[in-house]
Amino acid sequence: MQATFNVYRKEPGPNSKPGRSTYSVEVAADATVMDALLKIRDEQDPALGFRGSCLRGYCGDCTVRVNGKAAFACTAKVAALAKKGPAEISVEPIRNMPVVKDLIQDWDAFLWNKIDATKPWLEPNGSTADGEQRIPDTVMAKVRKAMSCFYCGLCDEGCTVLPVDFNFLGPAALTKASRFTWDPRDHAVRERLQILERPKGMWDCVHCFEASEHCPREIAPTERIMEMRDEAFKYGITNEKVARHHLSFAASVKRSGWLDEGRLAIESEGLTNFKGLMKLLPTAVKAITRGKAPIPYLHHKREGSEKITRIIEKAEANKEK
Ligand code: SF4
Repeated sequence: MQATFNVYRKEPGPNSKPGRSTYSVEVAADATVMDALLKIRDEQDPALGFRGSCLRGYCGDCTVRVNGKAAFACTAKVAALAKKGPAEISVEPIRNMPVVKDLIQDWDAFLWNKIDATKPWLEPNGSTADGEQRIPDTVMAKVRKAMSCFYCGLCDEGCTVLPVDFNFLGPAALTKASRFTWDPRDHAVRERLQILERPKGMWDCVHCFEASEHCPREIAPTERIMEMRDEAFKYGITNEKVARHHLSFAASVKRSGWLDEGRLAIESEGLTNFKGLMKLLPTAVKAITRGKAPIPYLHHKREGSEKITRIIEKAEANKEK
């Protein structure tokens, strides 16, 4: 079959302007986009840059956007794309990733440097008497889940925070870090969670669940991030404002059945953070003078709040199981 490809092009260097090249190529009926790119490079344009490794959808090395959707070039079928999509099949780099050349993306900046920042190695906590560390399968289930990540970057491609803050660690690096959080052989869990708690870390995730939607291995990176936040609470790690906000919010609803906004603002800022609390003062004064906050501030329990408390207690008990 004959297919036309409209491919993103860019020469290396910060000053080069991106463009597009169009190629018409004859491919087999069961050809993939990778087959087509290889043929274009062999027969028409030896300078076309792209990546690929396993060619079987196992390694995640050839992630690109095809017709505006993230895909593996080695598994996306040309016939299906030509049938459903526009006359020209568009191929471009995935979002949120700097480009080195054409479809070759800068994985160091996008992923490896960020993974590196999460202390992604096991810190052994000693062996049993016979030198073995036998771990029950049930304990390893969570570790294995995170370990099945093959760093395709699709979760980062779908992330809604990275387009506005490229320095956010991102779901892929955080998923890697979660692997060590659950490994009972590791003794650096606290230290790692403290690293992840810093700005640009796990608290910058806005839990839009796009990362989980994008993951081809059903690792659910968003859920992995949320689990690590809960684990950080168990370690008493609440240095980040967002963490305190989260705790105060949940405690308020559990206590009174609704949100105590005044207390939320104060507890999020930190009771010992005098400078931060002073900054809140003008907003508090405005809220009080405009009738948005009662004087003196009395947050009463809402009717039926005991039912809400019971629901939250039940959910907490279930989570512990
Ligand atoms: S978590 Fe899923 S989407 Fe993200 S890099 Fe790993 S395999 Fe890819």
